[in-house]
Amino acid sequence: MDFEVSEKMATMLAMIREFMDREVIPLEGEMLFGSPETLEAGVRAAQEKVKQMGLWAPNHPVEFGGLGLSMVDHGLFAEAVGRSPLGMTVFGTQAPDAGNIEILHKYGTEQQKEVWMRPLVEGKIRSCFSMTEPETAGSNPILLATTAVADGDDYVINGQKWFTSSADGAAVAIVMAVNDPGAPPHQRASMILVPTDTPGFNLVRNVSVMGHAGSGHASHGEVIYQGCRVPRTNLLGPEGHGFIIAQDRLGPGRIHHCMRWLGIASRAFDMMCDRANSRVIDADGGTLGDRQVIQHWVAELDAEIRGARLQVLHAAWVIDRHGAKVARDEISAIKFVVANTMLKGVDTSIQVHGALGVTNDTVLAYWYRHERAARIYDGADEVHKTSLGHRILRRYATAAKAAESSS
Ligand SMILES: Cc1cc2nc3c(=O)[nH]c(=O)nc-3n(C[C@H](O)[C@H](O)[C@H](O)COP(=O)(O)OP(=O)(O)OC[C@H]3O[C@@H](n4cnc5c(N)ncnc54)[C@H](O)[C@@H]3O)c2cc1C
Repeated sequence: MDFEVSEKMATMLAMIREFMDREVIPLEGEMLFGSPETLEAGVRAAQEKVKQMGLWAPNHPVEFGGLGLSMVDHGLFAEAVGRSPLGMTVFGTQAPDAGNIEILHKYGTEQQKEVWMRPLVEGKIRSCFSMTEPETAGSNPILLATTAVADGDDYVINGQKWFTSSADGAAVAIVMAVNDPGAPPHQRASMILVPTDTPGFNLVRNVSVMGHAGSGHASHGEVIYQGCRVPRTNLLGPEGHGFIIAQDRLGPGRIHHCMRWLGIASRAFDMMCDRANSRVIDADGGTLGDRQVIQHWVAELDAEIRGARLQVLHAAWVIDRHGAKVARDEISAIKFVVANTMLKGVDTSIQVHGALGVTNDTVLAYWYRHERAARIYDGADEVHKTSLGHRILRRYATAAKAAESSS
C-alpha cells in the first residue's frame, strides 16, 4: 500500500482544513446554543462556498456533480471534515443521503436517478432510509414486519419504523418492506421509494435520543406507514433484492462512518492535548500535561488513533481494488475498532477537561451524547465480531480439513 498522498489531494486537504477552522467550526456555537433556522442559514451559506471552491460531494459520481474520489481519498477527505458535526453536511457527503445516493446510482432507473438522485447530490433535497422497526430486532432484518402488498400498478405499504434518521424534512424515504412472505428469508423484502408527501406516510415523532429529539437532518423519526400507496415503478432494483441492496448500502456506509469518526477522535485528541498543556494544576505552574497519567492517555490514544486510521485506509484501499464484498472482514473489523477508539477519545478528552467537558461550552458533550450510537447502528459491535470471528474460524477449519485430506 502506497502511503503517498497525491499533490491534488494534499492541496484539497489543506483547503478543507483551513475552511473547517475558519467557516465550519465557528458554526458549532449556533448548533449548541442557537436556533435551528439560523444554523440552517449558516450551513447553506457555507455549502455555497464549498461548491464555489469545487469541493462539493467528494464521494459522488462526477456525472451527477460530485468529485468521484476513490475510497482512499474520500477517507482522507472525510476525516478532515469529520472534525465537526457539521462538516459532512457542509461538504455534501452526509448520511443517510450518501448511502441512498449510492444505491440509487447502482440500482435506480434513469427516471429515478433524475427525479431523486440528481437533486440529492446537488443538495436540493434530503432523503431518509427506513428499515429498522421498534417491534422487531434490527440486528436480524429477516424478522421485518412491514409489508408492501402489490395491488394493481401500486404497492400498498403498512408498518411501523423508527430511527428513520433525518425523515423530518426529507423529500423521499427508501423503505425496506416484505413483499413476498412466502419466499426464502433473504428474498422476501424489497426497497421502495416513497415520497414523504404520499398519503399514509406519517412521521409521528422525532425520537428523543439522549434527551434530544432534534429536528430536520439532526433527528431520528418514527414513521407509521398506513395504507401508503406508491406506484410499482417506485421499486428500487429488482423485487426481492432488499437484503442485497441493504448490504450494498451498508458496506460503504460503514466505512464512511469510520472515516468521520477518525475526524472526531483526532479533534477530541487535539482538544485534550491543548487542555492538558494549558490547565495549570500546581501552585508552581505545573500543568495537567506534566502528570504521567495524562501522558499515558495521550500516548495510548495517539497510538490507537493511528492504528485505527491505518485500518480504515487499508479497508478503503481493498474496496478501491477489489470491491466492498472482498473487504468484508476489513469493514467488520473497523466498524467496531474505530467506534470504540472514537468513543474512548471523546470520553478521555472529557475527563481531561473536567467539568468543562460535560458542558456545551465545547463540542465534546455533544459527541458524547450523539456518538454513543456508533456501537449500535449499521451493525452492533457484537454482530460484527460474531460474523468476523465466524468467518476466520471457518477459514481455519477449511485449511485444517484440506491439510488432513492431503496428508
Ligand atoms: C442514532 C441511530 C441512527 C440510526 N439510523 C437508522 C436509519 O437511518 N435507518 C434505519 O433503518 N435504522 C437506523 N438505526 C437503527 C439501527 O440500524 C439499529 O438500531 C440496529 O440495527 C440494531 O437494531 P436494534 O436497535 O433493533 O437492536 P437489537 O437487534 O434488538 O439488538 C440489541 C443489542 O443486542 C445485541 N445483539 C444483537 N444481535 C446480536 C447477536 N447476533 N449476537 C450478540 N449480540 C447481539 C447488540 O448488543 C445489540 O446492540 C439507527 C440507530 C441509531 C441508534
